[in-house]
Amino acid sequence: MNADSQAAVTDCLEAARACDAPIIIETSLWQLTGHSYGNGDPILGLTRYLADLTALSKSDRYRTVPVLFHTDHIKGPDALRILSAAIRGVPYRASTVSLDSSELSEEENIDLICRLCEIADDAEVPLSLEVEAGIDAGVTELAAADRLLGAVEASHPNRLALWAPGVGTQHGLSMRRDAFSPAAVEQHQRRASEICGRPIGIALHGSSGLSESDLRAGVAAGVVKVNWSSESLLIRSRAAQEYYATHACELEKTHPNWKSAAMDNGVQSFVSTRYVPAVIHRIQTLGGEGQAAEWHDRR
Ligand SMILES: [Zn+2]
Repeated sequence: MNADSQAAVTDCLEAARACDAPIIIETSLWQLTGHSYGNGDPILGLTRYLADLTALSKSDRYRTVPVLFHTDHIKGPDALRILSAAIRGVPYRASTVSLDSSELSEEENIDLICRLCEIADDAEVPLSLEVEAGIDAGVTELAAADRLLGAVEASHPNRLALWAPGVGTQHGLSMRRDAFSPAAVEQHQRRASEICGRPIGIALHGSSGLSESDLRAGVAAGVVKVNWSSESLLIRSRAAQEYYATHACELEKTHPNWKSAAMDNGVQSFVSTRYVPAVIHRIQTLGGEGQAAEWHDRR
């Protein structure tokens, strides 16, 4: 779940708890620098995000929910500084990290990934990586997996956990849904696992708008992490729109309930009633329901 506010994170953990499911909470650069977290400062944003998520996930209500924190779509001149902080800890650390490769050549992608491994080596901390390639540019050729994953695995073995090739999806809400290729997922999952000599999971970007059957087919083919952002934002913003439209008279200063209607809790509690069921449905579609216990057992 790409969650962009404390209220959204709370709703995601609430949905996971209701499903007895593990959940990955991820944040992109626009959340770290956004108003709810860093207000322009990505390191401050990371610090606040991780502090809040850690406090929430260790609280009595959510301590049984397995939570991973992933940094997603970090790019630009600050990428190495931000990801270095995520790896070393501020003071809490990210579970998995990824670079946005959309503006990088393959050589630059490999070089930056290897530098992240060196940062983890120097700090003597664990690091699990998601490597991506040309997500919005159609289906990635298998040879790209050989080049990218092969180079990283050869110089820094056992750091790779996830591979995000292009499989026909695109970020946003306007893509051609029929372009999604579960066959490409299956081929890339097999090839990536052969290259690394252990199971590598496929991360599916651009999942907004995919049908339930597409999502199930993706999971069956080897998808283990599904990034969900655009559709999620739409559900939350439309719910907020509905709240303000239906509570307009309570927001008059003469109304006896104006204060509770005006508080952040008013709109966020309303959004939650729309959003949590949608996340629960998503978890169920992807097969996450009931898997928290198994995750704890494996640990
Ligand atoms: Zn993405």
